[in-house]
Amino acid sequence: MYDVVIVGGGPAGCAAGLYAARAGLRTLVLTGGEPGGQLGIAETVENYPGAGARGGPELAADMRRDAEQAGAEFRNERAAEVCLRERQVKTGQGAYRSGTLIYAAGASPRALGIPGEEALRGRGVSWCAACDGAFFKGKDVAVVGGGSSAVSEALTLSRLCRRVYLLHRRDTLRAERRLTEQLESAGNITFLRNVQTEAILGAKAVTGIAYRELPEGPQRELPCAGVFIAAGRKPNTELLRGQIALDAGGYLPADETTRTAVSGVFAAGDVRTKAVRQVVTAAADGAVAALMAARFLEE
Ligand SMILES: Cc1cc2nc3c(=O)[nH]c(=O)nc-3n(C[C@H](O)[C@H](O)[C@H](O)COP(=O)(O)OP(=O)(O)OC[C@H]3O[C@@H](n4cnc5c(N)ncnc54)[C@H](O)[C@@H]3O)c2cc1C
Repeated sequence: MYDVVIVGGGPAGCAAGLYAARAGLRTLVLTGGEPGGQLGIAETVENYPGAGARGGPELAADMRRDAEQAGAEFRNERAAEVCLRERQVKTGQGAYRSGTLIYAAGASPRALGIPGEEALRGRGVSWCAACDGAFFKGKDVAVVGGGSSAVSEALTLSRLCRRVYLLHRRDTLRAERRLTEQLESAGNITFLRNVQTEAILGAKAVTGIAYRELPEGPQRELPCAGVFIAAGRKPNTELLRGQIALDAGGYLPADETTRTAVSGVFAAGDVRTKAVRQVVTAAADGAVAALMAARFLEE
């Protein structure tokens, strides 16, 4: 029995763990398959106040260390079942009940759903330049997407690969200005705008990508050894379906206090319905959720 079980070991989960432990709560953090969360694949983070320019995995490790030093217990276990009303979480290793539950399971990469994507996963198809980019040193690769993550992936790859093609469905990128400026000054990134990616090509490994110029251009093939997909993320809320109303995007609604519609259950980080999904907002949610959980237990 814990005072609080936190599902998720990203910035939201770590901040919640730190604040909960410091508030004197018996705190368990279940990190799932990606300890550190999305920070684990962020090459550099430059906008977490006071941290300077830090490697994402390094910042994630520091967040976990601080929470552990404060007394939070971490287990690298994945919640397989969550019962919100009972505030119970089951993993492959055990079942945990607690007075409060902080759901901070973040978001995972969205698939494109095109031919070749699933079959060539791990054989040239990747969702993480920081993890897999080195396999493509000196080669040509493609990145699919047009947001900050896509541009960030392209920049990471441009330092390793011969040429990087960035394919985006729209005319303009939806990325932070500092990133688009870096993109413009990188000499080996080609931006293909208004294109629909239609297939990833290759039998045993990726050999290219097929795309069509919108609205009705002919299909073209671009030879490349790797395809990195950065087409947005989807909230990890499958475990909650049928237990609580989710918003149209599948995110978990909660107000600024992070309280959800189920008593004693709080939502923190990217999984929550909100306007800005960043490390700093995830950490802020975690702090609020932990303090609200402490208040709930007092009441
Ligand atoms: C490539 C990249 C670069 C980025 N760069 C920046 C940047 O420069 N600045 C910035 O502010 N933001 C950046 N972001 C966004 C930022 O990383 C996220 O906003 C932030 O990590 C969200 O934190 P979170 O804790 O809510 O979720 P996540 O980081 O997604 O963590 C979710 C956690 O939940 C766990 N989990 C999921 N399912 C389960 C389960 N069933 N059981 C137990 N645990 C589970 C996961 O394993 C993970 O530990 C970047 C993101 C990416 C992908």
